Amino acid sequence: MVLVLSNQQLVAMRAHAERVYPEECCGLIVGTLDAAQVVPYKTVVELAALDNRWTSDVVDSDEAELEGELSNKAKHSEHIDKRRRYWIDPVDILRVQKRARGKGLGIIGVYHSHPDNEAVPSECDRAQAWPDYAYAIVSVQSGKAVDVQNWALDSAHQFQPEAMQIAPSSATDRMPISA
Ligand SMILES: [Zn+2]
Repeated sequence: MVLVLSNQQLVAMRAHAERVYPEECCGLIVGTLDAAQVVPYKTVVELAALDNRWTSDVVDSDEAELEGELSNKAKHSEHIDKRRRYWIDPVDILRVQKRARGKGLGIIGVYHSHPDNEAVPSECDRAQAWPDYAYAIVSVQSGKAVDVQNWALDSAHQFQPEAMQIAPSSATDRMPISA
């Protein structure tokens, strides 16, 4: 598929990522999914910027195991904070989903940032990813958004790059910048 978004939306994602640096930002991508086309499109209509709700209580079983092994060291979970993880509250997801449905839209993806890291999904990102969603990742280096890459799961639940296409969302997008 191809993720179609406006330059303004891309700028908004990058700005959110820079604003919460050095923590990870996160948000939901709301829009439409047109699978009937020769090239199926996910079209972004709006972005729902959310708070990163990660806490050390959100620990998956692997980490809980690891934490047990490292019991004589500092607690493992305390080293994994919002600079390395994000968590979207299910309550936020339901709220955004309800609002989207009211407009005939749906959640088509998730965006988040990687502070001082590449815009490549982590194993944790992969484990918690949903099929069909677009996963846009903003790489923020020293507080500056330097790269945005989009990913989607394949049938083997592995991330593959998913193309992004910039489409003007309004007339103002198309206006040339004049001095
Ligand atoms: Zn990530």
